[in-house]
Amino acid sequence: MNVINKADAFQHPFLDGSTKRMYIDGKWVEARSGKTFATYNPATGKVIAQVAEGDAADIDLAVAAARRAFEGPWSRFKPADRQRLLLKLADLVEADMENLATLDTLDMGAPITRTRGNRARAVGMLRYYAGQATSIHGETIENSLPGQIFSYTLKEPVGVVGAIIPWNGPLTASIWKLGPVLATGCTVVLKPAEEAPLTPLRLAELCEEAGVPPGVVNVVPGHGETAGAALASHMGVDKVAFTGSHLTGQKIIRASAGNLKRVSLELGGKSPDIVFADADMAAAVPGAGMAVFSNSGQICSAGTRLFVEEKIYEEFTERVAEFSRSLKVGNGLDPDTQVGPLVSSEQLDRVSGYLKVGKEEGARALSGGARLTDGDYADGYFIPPTVFGNVRDEMRIAQEEIFGPVLSAIPFTDIDEVISRGNNTSFGLGSGVWTQDVGKAHKLAKGLRAGSVWINCYQAMDPAVPFGGYKMSGYGRESGVQHVEEYLNVKAVWIKTE
Ligand code: ADP
Repeated sequence: MNVINKADAFQHPFLDGSTKRMYIDGKWVEARSGKTFATYNPATGKVIAQVAEGDAADIDLAVAAARRAFEGPWSRFKPADRQRLLLKLADLVEADMENLATLDTLDMGAPITRTRGNRARAVGMLRYYAGQATSIHGETIENSLPGQIFSYTLKEPVGVVGAIIPWNGPLTASIWKLGPVLATGCTVVLKPAEEAPLTPLRLAELCEEAGVPPGVVNVVPGHGETAGAALASHMGVDKVAFTGSHLTGQKIIRASAGNLKRVSLELGGKSPDIVFADADMAAAVPGAGMAVFSNSGQICSAGTRLFVEEKIYEEFTERVAEFSRSLKVGNGLDPDTQVGPLVSSEQLDRVSGYLKVGKEEGARALSGGARLTDGDYADGYFIPPTVFGNVRDEMRIAQEEIFGPVLSAIPFTDIDEVISRGNNTSFGLGSGVWTQDVGKAHKLAKGLRAGSVWINCYQAMDPAVPFGGYKMSGYGRESGVQHVEEYLNVKAVWIKTE
């Protein structure tokens, strides 16, 4: 478990030692306050850049610019013009992918194989939204009123969007907001997470290069309680598209009340992953492991509650533990790394706290279980993949979102029982089922209350397939035609023709 290729502060073309400015109205500007904040490489604990720290004053400027752009020349862009822009941006992202991937890895720690592997998804999303740009249409609707009165609907962009994103996948999270904005003719003020603001800023450079008009895309880095809160409550914002924790999601809803802005929320989860004794073990063992250990468990739909049919519980959990021990933990820049560090020292403390809680509650760590501190691990935020056995439903590690590489394995005996226990959570984002019995698969697909059910796979994603939550995992869908609809208003038009 060596850490090689140690991240060096200024080895990336984007990281030239200058303070990274924010992007408002087509210009690269300092914060009004002049303040900056540091962003860190979680593999080394070192500062990699200073970034302009936006707050309410900068959000005001960005929202005003987004409003002017929305009402200005951008409103006269035809669908095919917006499509061309998205296709150009897709080409630029594709050409810059190595830079973008390295920036994601440096800023939030994910293995470079993962961030490079986002190429198809990032570029595919932009091309998918390019297709959507020319597919937006209203309907003609036959009504039953007397006489000749004709009715049809128009689909119109909702307006200025405040996009607030987390740090666990800065490139794809940014594109998940920019794509529908550009497809529909909205404008956006994007607030990256304070832990990982760099890739969204690089993406703004690419938007500029693609010819996105000034004010259409604005990127204002800053803290959640200041810049984020100002955006969520801003009276000039028509919609907030938020991805993050459910606690912040609740604050966003409260903050949105002032002008009753539209809100879409993609929040946390505590997703069940259910393994039957008839599953293909060769697929289910690594599948169930990576359902949690991908991105060091920092994925909202991670399959963290592993329900295993009792008769294979001991054997299966031991095999997942063995698999987890085989994973190479290290600096994300090392191409052999499979599990990178956690994003920050706060996240390290939080996850370490849960490891302690799990043991105190009587769970047994079959693998991992404590922070890595030897040698090159010492300065980074490394927690090894951890499999907890002896877990009961009511334990905190089986109830609360940990957002780290921590799996809780729980036995079950019966299909109806596991559906009900799987659903016994306030969340409903992802879920997994491993079985070769098609009847069980369909029963689970219907019975699980979650936005995605993955059968004999986990975390499959595609730009055309909607993703989102039930219950406290949020509302609204990203990807698919449903996503574009979230950025459109429906207007009914009536024409009396006699
Ligand atoms: P996490 O725990 O994953 O960091 P958060 O929900 O705290 O999740 O953060 C997700 C995003 O929400 C970040 O961009 C963060 O800055 C922002 N944020 C945090 N608090 C607020 C808030 N009160 N209002 C608006 N945005 C916020």
